[in-house]
Amino acid sequence: MNSAVIQLVNATKKFKDHVVLDGLDFEIPQGSVVGLLGKNGSGKTTLLKLLLGLLKLDAGTSKVYGEDSWDLSANAKARIGYVPQEIQLYDWMKVRQLLKYTAAFYPAWDSQLVQKLTDEWEVDLEKKAGLLSVGQKQKLAIILALGYQPDLLILDEPVASLDPVARREFLRTILDIAQDESRTILFSTHITSDLERVADRIAVMKEGQIATYGNLDDLKDQIKRLRIVSSSDLPESFVVPGELRSEISGRQALVSVNNSDPQLVEQLQSTWDAQVTVEDLSLEEIFLEMHHVK
Ligand code: ADP
Repeated sequence: MNSAVIQLVNATKKFKDHVVLDGLDFEIPQGSVVGLLGKNGSGKTTLLKLLLGLLKLDAGTSKVYGEDSWDLSANAKARIGYVPQEIQLYDWMKVRQLLKYTAAFYPAWDSQLVQKLTDEWEVDLEKKAGLLSVGQKQKLAIILALGYQPDLLILDEPVASLDPVARREFLRTILDIAQDESRTILFSTHITSDLERVADRIAVMKEGQIATYGNLDDLKDQIKRLRIVSSSDLPESFVVPGELRSEISGRQALVSVNNSDPQLVEQLQSTWDAQVTVEDLSLEEIFLEMHHVK
């Protein structure tokens, strides 16, 4: 039996001529916390909406709990919690009413957790939802999603409205609460610092595909910057297998690669009669290297 909670195969989505997902494959096993990282406009929201059946694929398949996303049963939908980027609440309801109203739909509603979070996150129960700040609304939407204890939690830029300092800590809190071994979490972000020490796995979206997918330590082991210092001038350009970006100047070159291994280093040393130093990169640097930014 396939234990993938989410499975996209050859997923393709266009808006008119604009290809947003281009034959994308992606699978998330049960119990993992996956951070979906990509620049603004890379297609993260589109991907999440396709999973939930809010948009329809042009080609390929999208499945959640083995069911076609476009045709999810009520049972599957009840297992999914989704907090979109544009949050819509019943603005005229007071927070207290809104919580009570939502709780009524869900037998497994965790009122203790909801109470604890509204206290901790200082969401005023007596305020009308429509009068909350953007950040408070986002917190309330997350509380509403956590309250019914979904098996799969999908969060679209969940910390976007928070100040930079609070972002990662707040995200960590959400994930701690939400995670037990059977629960799966997928959240999107365009900020790399949201992810370090938060996600089990990181998926980087680029050019309509999942360009890289794995745990942070593995990514950091694979993606390195090679500093090449040759005994004589290097050619203006040369190709290194797995190259992400290179900068060549005189006898020196900086080449970032997605598959650093000792053999590659030896090969470069002998080809260019060079000293090659392997440098570690932070996730931020990896992301920038992948997007060819200096
Ligand atoms: P992200 O969430 O990574 O910022 P999106 O999935 O929101 O990216 O958008 C990906 C691309 O698809 C963007 O160029 C956006 O303008 C385009 N797009 C998204 N939704 C629509 C739509 N309904 N109609 C036309 N273009 C869209």
